[in-house]
Amino acid sequence: MSLPIVAIIGRPNVGKSTLVNRLAGAHEAIVYDEPGVTRDRTYSNAYWRDREFVVVDTGGLVFDDDTEFLPLIREQASLALAEAVAAIFVVDGQTGPTPADEAIAEWLRQQPVPVLVAVNKCESPDQGLAQAAQFWELGLGEPYPVSGIHGSGTGELLDQLITYIPPVSELPETDEIKVAIVGRPNVGKSSLLNAFVGTQRAIVSPISGTTRDSIDTVIEREGKVYRLIDTAGIRKKKNVEYGPEFFGINRAFKAIRRADVVLLVIDALDGVTEQDQKLVGRIVEEGRACVIVVNKWDAVEKDSYTIYDYEKHTKERLHFVDWAAMIFVSAKTGQRVEKILELVMQAAEAHKRRVSTSVINEILEEAVRWHSPPTTRQGRQGKIYYGTQVSTQPPSIALFVNEAERFNTNYRRYIERQFRQQLGFNGTPIRLLWRSKK
Ligand code: GDP
Ligand code: GDP
Repeated sequence: MSLPIVAIIGRPNVGKSTLVNRLAGAHEAIVYDEPGVTRDRTYSNAYWRDREFVVVDTGGLVFDDDTEFLPLIREQASLALAEAVAAIFVVDGQTGPTPADEAIAEWLRQQPVPVLVAVNKCESPDQGLAQAAQFWELGLGEPYPVSGIHGSGTGELLDQLITYIPPVSELPETDEIKVAIVGRPNVGKSSLLNAFVGTQRAIVSPISGTTRDSIDTVIEREGKVYRLIDTAGIRKKKNVEYGPEFFGINRAFKAIRRADVVLLVIDALDGVTEQDQKLVGRIVEEGRACVIVVNKWDAVEKDSYTIYDYEKHTKERLHFVDWAAMIFVSAKTGQRVEKILELVMQAAEAHKRRVSTSVINEILEEAVRWHSPPTTRQGRQGKIYYGTQVSTQPPSIALFVNEAERFNTNYRRYIERQFRQQLGFNGTPIRLLWRSKK
């Protein structure tokens, strides 16, 4: 299920990031830096009443004529809007409308999404309404006075915004599993893709609405549909000369972001590299499921211990994803390639898994009985009241405790290990949210 996207538009310094943080509440924003003309884009999850959505801060929009990158900036902004269900145009109530605001407004009027004008920095109760009223002239309907810093006015803005957002229960539930194939150049990503597709006609489908150059390949196995994400990048490479250090990490990061399960492909001859560790970091941050594919296994000289030693060594180097299954394959001979999709399916199921509150609390009680929570230097002991799973993909469990600070890293890891030992969750990261309840 992918959540509806709301794009935040506006020139620099009007308070977009402040407002996004406010709308996203305590949720952490994830920053994606893309070098070059594409500015940083931040995606944050947000919810209001029964609606959930993703807020995308498009970075400061500059439409000055002397900007060399003007067409590209517009293009980027259009792309951001193309995937959005609505846009919030943020302006500065204290400066009033500027020519840049007018240029953006004119452009926004030509875009096919509903636009709400948020007049920020209107915390003054006396002047707020008048400050906002100046922005009627932008021709984008009623301006909403808000203050990103104080939070005032955001309720009205959000009430209006969610009229464009369907409730979660009405979002299309898709059964397909989105898979990203990532790894350094030459590890065999295209070969694997071909091996998957080989036996069957692949349906290549451009995805509507998102970046134009990304192409997915959809395959079906035993009634399950797998969408291999952004395989254009993998295929196109064939006719392009890339330097040896080209890694396409941003492309990989984007694919990870869209995936349910990431296939991290490693070359058996080279082993784990620093770049693989970067990818692993991102997989964990994004909470994606993962399968580690060690390719070119045909080219490795083996004796009876090799797989065992190799797996042990590789797992050590990838200990952040020690929950991920590892499989040794050869895209060249086809050895075990079909097994990969089985592991993908298992990881996807673990990623979506829901565990009942009673089971969670049984595990917690047992864990605390074996090993009681730490006591702080001041002699205060941590106490876990109860736990409950609050979301999936990845499974996230909130633990309500007397004071979260009393639980040190060791103890937190211990509890996580108990959940894994009792519940498995093979192939997926899990998140524990420690919440103080006073
Ligand atoms: P962005 O460049 O549009 O993302 O803007 P920022 O969120 O970084 O904010 C730019 C400046 O405006 C910062 O100095 C903020 O402290 C200030 N600012 C943001 N929101 C408000 C607000 O609601 N009221 C006031 N008075 N200042 C704000
Ligand atoms: P990509 O850059 O990750 O897409 O890698 P490619 O699929 O283009 O493969 C890079 C090179 O490794 C090519 O020369 C492939 O023929 C070779 N290769 C890919 N998979 C295997 C494999 O399983 N075994 C062997 N021996 N070579 C492989």
